[in-house]
Amino acid sequence: MTFQDLKLNGAMARAAAAVGYTAPTPIQVRAIPPILDGRDIIGCAQTGTGKTAAFVLPIVQLLAPARGKRHIRVLVLAPTRELAAQIDEEFGKFSRQRGLRHVAIFGGVGQQPQVDALRRGVDIVVATPGRLQDLMNQGYIKLGNVQHFVLDEGDRMLDMGFIHDVKRIIKTLPRARQTMLFSATMPQAIQELSKSMLTAPVKVEASPQATTVEGIAQSIYFVESGDKRALLKSILNDPASQRVLVFTRTKHRANTLARQLNRAQIAAEAIHGNKSQSARTRALAQFKSGKTAVLVATDIAARGLDIDAVTHVINFDLPNIPESYVHRIGRTARAGASGIAYSFCDVNERKYLREIESLIRQPIEVVAEHPYASALPAPAPAPARKAASSGNRRRRPRRRR
Ligand code: AMP
Repeated sequence: MTFQDLKLNGAMARAAAAVGYTAPTPIQVRAIPPILDGRDIIGCAQTGTGKTAAFVLPIVQLLAPARGKRHIRVLVLAPTRELAAQIDEEFGKFSRQRGLRHVAIFGGVGQQPQVDALRRGVDIVVATPGRLQDLMNQGYIKLGNVQHFVLDEGDRMLDMGFIHDVKRIIKTLPRARQTMLFSATMPQAIQELSKSMLTAPVKVEASPQATTVEGIAQSIYFVESGDKRALLKSILNDPASQRVLVFTRTKHRANTLARQLNRAQIAAEAIHGNKSQSARTRALAQFKSGKTAVLVATDIAARGLDIDAVTHVINFDLPNIPESYVHRIGRTARAGASGIAYSFCDVNERKYLREIESLIRQPIEVVAEHPYASALPAPAPAPARKAASSGNRRRRPRRRR
């Protein structure tokens, strides 16, 4: 399968090849033709599947070169600054040859450069909801000419409480437009939103949800909360741990942990929503270049980050939302590579573990022997209610020595 088989024109296919996209990914195969046909799309795809290019390539092809005064013809909404910056970068790879201008609009940085870009005229805006509304209220942004609207990571928008902002923004868009909604999961609220914002959408999926963790070697360490740090250090001292993404539940814990690792001579940086944009960009660049081996992140900060070749994902804290587990560990198996995911579980997190295992429909292997093994017994498998339901019973995790 080639990009041209998907009705992308020669120039776009060449531009894709020039940035190293030689063959389309499955989500691109499914999404590009209906987008080029002008259809609305509901896409179930995670970051790492190539979903950004799945909408960027066809949208750029659909846009005629600008003549006269520029109007915003494409609006992409993303939940985080990092994701907005990455999508904007993807537009940057393909829009210049066509004379199209694009800008990323997000908070946490001064608004003046964004206002200046808007004044010069842009065709494509990639924005987070808060700053977009600020600039709309100040009269710098008019959305009356939007032809293509993308809502990316809809489920995360919901989790982050942006849904009302999103609805308010949608109200200002022309009714006659093409709309594309992408979401890693499809909770009820997203399905309802999709009914109100999409017309006869084509449903495209990258891969069924249950298979997203295939190929990742997952293990669980039962450990007491106070021993997690020592356990982490012992894992990080293994030379195989080259580029490690560590997840904590809170920003505060991310900061503290990064500081403690630095004190133990392990180069680590924290990345979360309270850091300035420049601090986040710097932390990310240092991690990508290999200068820091460990990035300590919260779920929201890590969402959408484009980091290749993460060797390990370590859940220092288990997430209380089981879907987050799948998002997190997916970071270590990008573009078909296999990865390693370790999770620490203290006694209070065992309920989360049960929910995760039920979501991924498999027990996670337990590392029984490690220097900080919890003195508490490993949890017993849930008893089967009746014989007929034993097929659903949680199997006792296999033990590894
Ligand atoms: P995304 O899911 O949009 O975050 O993309 C994940 C990564 O895959 C990014 O680094 C893209 O640059 C890359 N990518 C997207 N499409 C392709 C493709 N067809 N071939 C190879 N890499 C791709």
